Amino acid sequence: MSFGVKLAVLAGFVLVPSMTAVEREASGGARPPDAEPNAGSFCVTNRAPLAPGAFFKLPIGSIQPKGWLRHQLELEANGMTGHLQEISKWCKFENSAWASPDGQGQFGWEELPYWLKGFGDLGYVLEDEKIIKEARKWIDAVLSSQAPDGYFGPRTNKTGLEGKPDLWPHVVMLNVLQSFYEYNGEDRVLPFMTKYLKWLNTLPGEAFGRGYWPRIRFGDTIESAYWLYNRTGEPWLLDLAKKIHDHMENWTSGVHDWHNVNVAQGFREPGVYYLQARNENFLRAAEYNYKTVMDLYGQFPGGGFAADENARPGFTDPHQGFETCGIVEFMHSFEMLTKISGNPVWADHCEDLAFNSLPAAVTPDWKGLHYLTCANQVLLDRHNHAPGIENSGTMFSYSPFEVYRCCQHNVSHGWPYYAEELWLATPDRGLCVSLYAASEVTAKLGDGSAVKISEETDYPFGDTVTLKISTAKPSGFPLHLRIPRWCDKPSAKVNGKGVSLGAREHSYVIIDREWKEGDVVVLRLPMRVTVKTWGKNHNAVSVNYGPLTFSLRIGENWTRYGGTEPWPEWEVTPTTPWNYGLVLNEHDPAKSFQIVKPTRTNPSQGGEPGGQARGAAPLPGGAGGGFTPSGDDANPFTAQTVPIALRAKAKKIPAWKLDRFGLAGKLQDSPVKSDEPAETVTLIPMGAARLRISAFPVIGAGKNAHEWTEPKPPPVSASHCFEWDSVEAIIDGLEPKNSNDHSIPRFTWWDHRGTVEWVQYDFIHPRMVSAVEVYWFDDAPNGGCRAPRSWTLLYKHGDAWEPVAGASGFGVKPDAYNRVTFGPVETTGLRIEAQLQPNFSGGILEWKLLE
Ligand SMILES: [Zn+2]
Repeated sequence: MSFGVKLAVLAGFVLVPSMTAVEREASGGARPPDAEPNAGSFCVTNRAPLAPGAFFKLPIGSIQPKGWLRHQLELEANGMTGHLQEISKWCKFENSAWASPDGQGQFGWEELPYWLKGFGDLGYVLEDEKIIKEARKWIDAVLSSQAPDGYFGPRTNKTGLEGKPDLWPHVVMLNVLQSFYEYNGEDRVLPFMTKYLKWLNTLPGEAFGRGYWPRIRFGDTIESAYWLYNRTGEPWLLDLAKKIHDHMENWTSGVHDWHNVNVAQGFREPGVYYLQARNENFLRAAEYNYKTVMDLYGQFPGGGFAADENARPGFTDPHQGFETCGIVEFMHSFEMLTKISGNPVWADHCEDLAFNSLPAAVTPDWKGLHYLTCANQVLLDRHNHAPGIENSGTMFSYSPFEVYRCCQHNVSHGWPYYAEELWLATPDRGLCVSLYAASEVTAKLGDGSAVKISEETDYPFGDTVTLKISTAKPSGFPLHLRIPRWCDKPSAKVNGKGVSLGAREHSYVIIDREWKEGDVVVLRLPMRVTVKTWGKNHNAVSVNYGPLTFSLRIGENWTRYGGTEPWPEWEVTPTTPWNYGLVLNEHDPAKSFQIVKPTRTNPSQGGEPGGQARGAAPLPGGAGGGFTPSGDDANPFTAQTVPIALRAKAKKIPAWKLDRFGLAGKLQDSPVKSDEPAETVTLIPMGAARLRISAFPVIGAGKNAHEWTEPKPPPVSASHCFEWDSVEAIIDGLEPKNSNDHSIPRFTWWDHRGTVEWVQYDFIHPRMVSAVEVYWFDDAPNGGCRAPRSWTLLYKHGDAWEPVAGASGFGVKPDAYNRVTFGPVETTGLRIEAQLQPNFSGGILEWKLLE
């Protein structure tokens, strides 16, 4: 694929206005801002010559999450993440090469560091002694595994890439150590990391361009080098960072790799390196990467993009998936870029994913997850959906097991990292409320006084944020409040008195004054319903209320299909129709929705705009039979417990059905005709909808309204096809690299062995053919498929199949197209008939017709 642009750093290219729109309340104690960047800050800031950066992480432990966020973290601790050592073979101490002092052991790749990265931080943010103790056991083992040269951990990785080091798992482990140090200041960490990074610095530059995963994701180690530099000041760390930047994937010149997690994690690298380069074009390059990917593949709500392993041209419908690893890595990228750039748009993006996608990627009790979350996803079964989505096999049903190996471990850091980034330190010795959630923060501010601020809010389910200040003596410091993009009328009061914000949306409001014990700031971020049209996705619409996106509420039937009593695996199937288009008010689409608050909500918070009615009635359309693993009123992210919902008018679109891959059929152009009666439907927050339609067709009646047409059946069929493969793969136009290419969809007759089988291609109109090319699938020596023993080509002659005449020979060569020429035939179908090798099956990667 070649979407990459030659030079991403376009002069004058700006994704969004950057963070200069600030307002200062010039009452008592205001200081000139940023006179001396970072001077006298009470937390670790960027050391020169690195750029100052906009905000800084507070020491872990400064922020106590409360409310729904704390509850999510507790569910995580009681669920999969807190118990993964009981479930995952990679997290068993006795088998892990990460746990042994000499780096020997069965398992030593990314899984353990992926898990430990979030597991440790989960313990720290919850102050959960049991988790902290368990994490320390692992970290102690890692810290005691350092070899004299500085290398540590699994020794197999040191020669893991054809004799050269596979540096990827260590990229993740450094993050584990950074958090551990930030939490407890453990004195072994800095010398340990220094010694390891010194070893890394002895490697030639090419080492950082080697290996698919490390090459693309090495920006994380640049961040680790800066983290260490800010604490030790050793200048060679910046040389190392530059060496990595110069040799790793070039993210500064655009997006050249389309793997979901690689993009989510890698796109930010120029933004990180900006700190050293001190050239804003690097920040722009990260913005440009984001925009490039989202313009092509992010044309639906939820904050993710269509890449159900890789982003693929033509696969941009909201039924494509976004990997759970991608959700949490994208969130982490946004958190990092918020601190580096001070551009509030990154925090907006982070909230978008956190509220609308992450909760739905896991079961409500955090005892299972799935690989792929889609904006339109109406069936979470365990069966194959490839090549509608790229990967074959189980991708949608919920499981805590290794079927989702990477995400199973990596999902752990989503909420803990989020909780650590709610509040940030500012260079002017103040605080920034970056991501809104109920919490309590303690920090040294202004002249060094310890100040505690409690944040009370139901956000994003309510629009009011109350900050209560607690300080032993009056203290002057600025409070930076993020104004999200969607909010156009923010207001604030200090101790009941209105503050003149003059604020613009999408900026930070700064209230700089002398704060006293008991001071109260009430920030209101009024939310209203908005309707967004996705012009690049058939004019479908999505419905937002503040930062929340809403999805059709679909009855969920939860069926256990595997796992164990404590760790069940679930399929979720719909019990109510999902094929609705919305009937919108033509003049003001936002007026088409009625807000309802079906369950408990704090009446002092969260008013509705425009006098819309507040209803208390239960939601129509029950969960529909079956057991739901929720029953938990403190979790707002379930269909049964959402604190807010919308009612709307909709009509069914009868021809909109599951496609042949079991996905919600692809969107077609809106407006769409429907003769069905108008019904009242309920929309619930997307993050609470395990089954959902989030990108809706719009119902229309005028001349411009379209008929929804049922897609034609595929023109290929076969005597048999393995469930995880597809017959369509043979005509998908994807070029095989070799006969054992597992990176593209394939067709196989598996597990039919030694038999005579066929595959056929039908044409609507007769066509002239005089040659075909066949690329056999052959996974020798380990697999069970080989090129067939022999084959022949037949064409449709009336109702009969006749052999083509004068064939040049039926090749069975692997790793190449086998071309057959024959006397031209005009026909409505061709059929390959193959005699499989004894004891082997067979398959085809691509089949081409030539005139
Ligand atoms: Zn994953």
